[in-house]
Amino acid sequence: MTYVIAQPCVDIKDRACVTECPVDCIYEGSRTLYINPAECVDCHACEPVCPVEAIFYEDDLPRHWAHYRSVNAEFFVAATPEREHQGGAAGDHPLVAALPRQVLHKKEVSVFAVRKEEAADVDLWFPS
Ligand code: SF4
Ligand code: SF4
Repeated sequence: MTYVIAQPCVDIKDRACVTECPVDCIYEGSRTLYINPAECVDCHACEPVCPVEAIFYEDDLPRHWAHYRSVNAEFFVAATPEREHQGGAAGDHPLVAALPRQVLHKKEVSVFAVRKEEAADVDLWFPS
């Protein structure tokens, strides 16, 4: 089993998850990050730190992002001709490369992150 990075990471890439991963299995593409399912140890450390809630346990992926399980896994197979044509860093999965530019700006992400921290604090004070 593995965790998966879905579409909200595209064009955000703040790398908060990378510093949390104990086995360094989160890799950077040109527009998004990818979790290597062969290396992920299901520790859950990355999921709560993502400011845009892009990370899911594979069985918990929303239906409209279910294909990101394959997107993450296929990023680690041999480079495709599409990726070779993109040049630059590691390129991206063709499905990610074809996405229109995402509109969420870094400033909005930081506001979102603060709100998420405040929500976590509320959970501490008012556990369900
Ligand atoms: S669940 Fe743990 S091992 Fe898997 S990507 Fe996240 S931090 Fe890394
Ligand atoms: S924390 Fe979320 S938005 Fe940031 S790089 Fe990781 S998956 Fe992408």
